Amino acid sequence: MVTDCPFCRIVAGDISADVLHSTEDVLAFRDLHPAAPTHVLIIPKVHLESIEQLTQHEAPLLSHLFNAANHVANAEGLRKGWRLVANVGPAGGQTVFHLHLHLLGGRQMTWPPG
Ligand code: AMP
Ligand code: ZN
Repeated sequence: MVTDCPFCRIVAGDISADVLHSTEDVLAFRDLHPAAPTHVLIIPKVHLESIEQLTQHEAPLLSHLFNAANHVANAEGLRKGWRLVANVGPAGGQTVFHLHLHLLGGRQMTWPPG
């Protein structure tokens, strides 16, 4: 755990969050500032800064993250589709440096994103 990391603090229970799904490896909770009717963050419980830190070692973790995304999308009833986004680094729009996937749905998504 990284004590000044807000998502590690959510995993530790030090900061409250609206948790939708929790397994041994991953946690899914609603974004504080939703950009769509469904906006859920899916994170590994271990601290990794971003996708750039992933190695072959984390291959099983990736499948846990994607399984959690499917689980949440089903639970939220997003039958028409949804979007998964990972911002990487400052120019990628990343503001919290604990790896996370944004699951967005409940409205028509547009392309390209901003
Ligand atoms: P990113 O810009 O990709 O790093 O996304 C970080 C996201 O975390 C933003 O959408 C924030 O609204 C969200 N966020 C930051 N702090 C919290 C928190 N304590 N609980 C829920 N979402 C948060
Ligand atoms: Zn962290």
